Amino acid sequence: MTQSNLISHVIRKEVLAMSAYKVADATGLIKLDAMENPYSWPESIKAEWLAILKECPLNRYPDPDAKTLTQTLKQLTHLPDQFEILLGNGSDEIIQLLLMALPEASAVLAPAPGFVMYKQISDSLGLKYIGVPLLTEGFDLDLPAMLLAIEQHRPHVIFLAYPNNPTANLFNENAIVEIIKTAPGLVVIDEAYAPFASASFVDQLGHYDNILVMRTVSKLGLAGLRLGYLMGRPDIIEQLNKIRLPYNINSLTQVSADFALSNKSFFDEQTQAICQERTLVSKALNEFKEIIAYPSAANFILFKTPEGKATDIFLSIKNQGVLIKNMTSQGGVLTDCLRVTIGKPEENKAFLDALQNSLKEL
Ligand SMILES: *Cc1c(COP(=O)(O)O)cnc(C)c1O
Repeated sequence: MTQSNLISHVIRKEVLAMSAYKVADATGLIKLDAMENPYSWPESIKAEWLAILKECPLNRYPDPDAKTLTQTLKQLTHLPDQFEILLGNGSDEIIQLLLMALPEASAVLAPAPGFVMYKQISDSLGLKYIGVPLLTEGFDLDLPAMLLAIEQHRPHVIFLAYPNNPTANLFNENAIVEIIKTAPGLVVIDEAYAPFASASFVDQLGHYDNILVMRTVSKLGLAGLRLGYLMGRPDIIEQLNKIRLPYNINSLTQVSADFALSNKSFFDEQTQAICQERTLVSKALNEFKEIIAYPSAANFILFKTPEGKATDIFLSIKNQGVLIKNMTSQGGVLTDCLRVTIGKPEENKAFLDALQNSLKEL
């Protein structure tokens, strides 16, 4: 058997057809491409954290149930007692666990454009992924189109990112409720950007049998730890727990996340600073006559550049030392669009200066 024959013999055709998720190299650049919190920790907090790490027994397996951290998360989210939490190695792993548990060839549905991992993981598992276009004006849910697609495809899981990535808006709450009521399967409300938004479905967990709320600590400021969590009915969480690998949350993540979340006030200050900067950057973007910046309830802004110019502008900004994200190749409503993560004031200024220069070069 030749080498390529071997590969097509042992790898599923859906996997052969995929491309790997690419992460841009940010070496030497101001990094405004991945919705990270730009701030580090106060020195005194770092010192306390290091003292805790020192006691962490790395010769032992982690607590498979991450009991201490789970308790901290329950308190932090004010999760009512009747619900349970599942922890994942990032919410990406939770998406994977949910989809791995579905019956073969199930349909998975989400608005488009949406978070890329929903489709990436669905494809890898041979599931049928359906993206329903958002309204082009304002990027809200196209409710009739969503309801029709639900009727046609009977999806086992629907993902709604709230706020949505990459459009940064919160969908209409009534439309979400309509979808929850119509869905024949689970509806996962993905609240990755909860720290920057003033809305959540955690309070509504008790109102519907079929919803789950997913969060992550990544966008808050702990992207390096890889920790996401899913909240919902204990009987659903129990099933997912069967396919979760026993030690998916390592010891360093457990103690570090528990420590950081128990001393959360510095994160709250950082989040506030990011939200204030978001207002300033949005206003500055809209002052360029060539640019349209869309409203954001998250820590990033999607903006539209003159027709056919997005890649030139992206590269010019990169050549000036600032890495943002080029969205135009995804097409549809993202044609001509770029996405910038809110950084520190001086980083945002470097971005805006670079953008101004790039517009002059057009
Ligand atoms: C970033 C992001 C995630 C993934 O978060 P991790 O916990 O870092 O895996 C999930 N959903 C949305 C909408 C995101 O933007």
